[in-house]
Amino acid sequence: MANTMKLYRFSAEELTEKEIADATDDGVKCDGCNWRVSYLYVLAGSREEALKMIEHGEAGLCGNCISDLIVEGGYQILIQEHNKTKPKTTTEILLDTIKSFEWCWHINQSIGGHDCWSKLFEEISKRVKTKKIIERIGYTIFLGEDVDLIRIASFSEFDNEGTGFELFYKDSHTDAKWYMKKKS
Ligand SMILES: [Zn+2]
Repeated sequence: MANTMKLYRFSAEELTEKEIADATDDGVKCDGCNWRVSYLYVLAGSREEALKMIEHGEAGLCGNCISDLIVEGGYQILIQEHNKTKPKTTTEILLDTIKSFEWCWHINQSIGGHDCWSKLFEEISKRVKTKKIIERIGYTIFLGEDVDLIRIASFSEFDNEGTGFELFYKDSHTDAKWYMKKKS
């Protein structure tokens, strides 16, 4: 039968305060290898139980020894639902794409940065289902199905008042500004 336990961590400081085991401010002894370490780890049903086990000398291992125990003991790790990373939104993915493009552009612009652009167009087209790309000196417009994007180069200005476009990213390397308009 499977038994659910959690991994708990206790600092030497905390154990010193609670006067548990031989803890002092500069460390506590690992039950496995006997080294003095800053943290002890315990597999237990609750934090209170874990603390009791350390108190009774039944548990309390350093990072290395607890890892060995997990490997050799056949433990499985179950991630709780709320700890799972949420899937990224389209805006977050766009931002990742844009940031990596700007960085690519920043380090390659002296030699043209052509690869950076084609990669950017490809990625953005995928995300916003681009219908049209307009390239002009100083700005690039991506007209998409749900979202329009504009990239304004560092030497250009864009007055977004009344256009529905909102600034959502300014790159610190290239000083380019990105505006987005969501279509409802
Ligand atoms: Zn150890």
